[in-house]
Amino acid sequence: MPQTCGAHEIRWQSEEGAIKDQAAGRLASTKSVPVAMSPRRLSAPSMPTTGPLVDSFGRVHTDLRISVTDRCNLRCVYCMPEEGVAWVPRSEILTFEEIERIALVAHDLGVDSVRLTGGEPLVRASVTDLVARLGRIGFSDLSMTTNGSGLARLAPALAAAGLNRVNISCDSLKPERFAQVRRRGELTTVLEAMDAAEQAGLIPVKINVVVIAGINDDEIVDLAAFARDTGRVVRFIEFMPLDAGEAWERSKVVSGEEILARINEVWPLETASKRAVDAAPADRYRFVDGRGEIGVITSVTRAFCGSCNRLRLTADGAIRNCLFANIEHPVRDLLRSGASDADLALLLRQAVWAKLAGHGINDPAFLRPARSMSMIGG
Ligand code: SAM
Ligand code: SF4
Repeated sequence: MPQTCGAHEIRWQSEEGAIKDQAAGRLASTKSVPVAMSPRRLSAPSMPTTGPLVDSFGRVHTDLRISVTDRCNLRCVYCMPEEGVAWVPRSEILTFEEIERIALVAHDLGVDSVRLTGGEPLVRASVTDLVARLGRIGFSDLSMTTNGSGLARLAPALAAAGLNRVNISCDSLKPERFAQVRRRGELTTVLEAMDAAEQAGLIPVKINVVVIAGINDDEIVDLAAFARDTGRVVRFIEFMPLDAGEAWERSKVVSGEEILARINEVWPLETASKRAVDAAPADRYRFVDGRGEIGVITSVTRAFCGSCNRLRLTADGAIRNCLFANIEHPVRDLLRSGASDADLALLLRQAVWAKLAGHGINDPAFLRPARSMSMIGG
């Protein structure tokens, strides 16, 4: 029997497609990602050189995150240092032609969705030209994650170039709090960006909120109210150990379980999708009264590595098979030394094949990656 949480029952979606009771308190012990819990196989199969991009655990990769720049106009506390950022030299950043070429090769290997990210993608000059190039390739989903500061101005051009939708980061609805977390920029600009994105047809607009204990967790219910009032999908993201300041500690993580419980007490929630058919990182929940939807991204407390279908391209041309990977597969030098598409495809295959079972955040031997979030591309 399902158990109840607050006013209404809410349930975790499991990787296997079975439903686990959220209220049963099995969060920490849930073995939801069998593949992520297993050691690497002793006799791994050999890497296929045809067919989809698959790793040695059978996960097919169809989603590419492209970081278009390591630069950013903000300095969010959970991402970048306040001062003294050393940008990657321009000459080491991939050109639009180079990004387009890798995207084409990835598309041929079965990648069908691309998300542009950074750093802040909108600070890269003429980024709409890149969107147009990628738009012509014909991905079924072409999206962008942005801090929103340049979006009100650029939304119509991005939509015209072929961008389908945007995720906009906004961690607080209080101007002073926003300034404290993001260190630069203004809340009003980001709220205007949300309106502009909708007017330009970049929908559904999703709002990314990194929840940090003692910083903005008192706004969880207000942000859920914002989702209900605006129809935007607010996605609550657990704070991950990818901040440049290395201030992350477990006590600052507010679990998805707690976020859901707090909202569910006020407005009952129900499951909106199952992960078994949806590799997107967010667990989706809708309000039982039909007024909108929220998501939780539980990278820390309840990893979803078992259904991960993502690979990443950094702005300086490295393929990463995981946000938390400690090994990168450099593609830029290969590109610049006259590599064929077959050479590039082989590198992509090798990078994906080398993916570990899970990110290991909860493993005592976990090592933070050398690069922080803005350098990797979230
Ligand atoms: N600059 C854009 C933005 O802020 O939306 C795109 C890049 S940003 C690195 C991508 C996403 O990563 C944002 O939603 C941001 O809030 C999230 N993020 C950054 N650092 C994080 C961390 N340490 N833990 C969890 N999410 C983080
Ligand atoms: Fe910039 Fe986005 Fe990182 Fe904030 S989260 S510092 S906006 S890259």
